[in-house]
Amino acid sequence: MNFPPMAWIILALGVLWLVLRLWSRKAEEKRQEERDARMAELLAERERLLGHDDSPHSLGAVVSDSTPPAKPKAPSENVCAGCRMVNPPDAKTCAGCGLEL
Ligand SMILES: [Zn+2]
Repeated sequence: MNFPPMAWIILALGVLWLVLRLWSRKAEEKRQEERDARMAELLAERERLLGHDDSPHSLGAVVSDSTPPAKPKAPSENVCAGCRMVNPPDAKTCAGCGLEL
């Protein structure tokens, strides 16, 4: 093992560069995660305020604020509170468990 000093310097610089790159990428990932979490929180808060339960919790909805907010769907079906079965809108009792709707 008889490398010229320049080779050691280049090697050291290369390792340093790799470490710095990994470190900055990790920091960037952490920042991104925190940003995503905050975005999801804001979105959940906004949906809670607007009463939107059926809009997708995707980041795309946050980023593109220009898209009109999804209107809550009119309840056209009776979802049973007991067994979550979807019944026809005019049904009086659940077809699955017989619970009163
Ligand atoms: Zn039911």
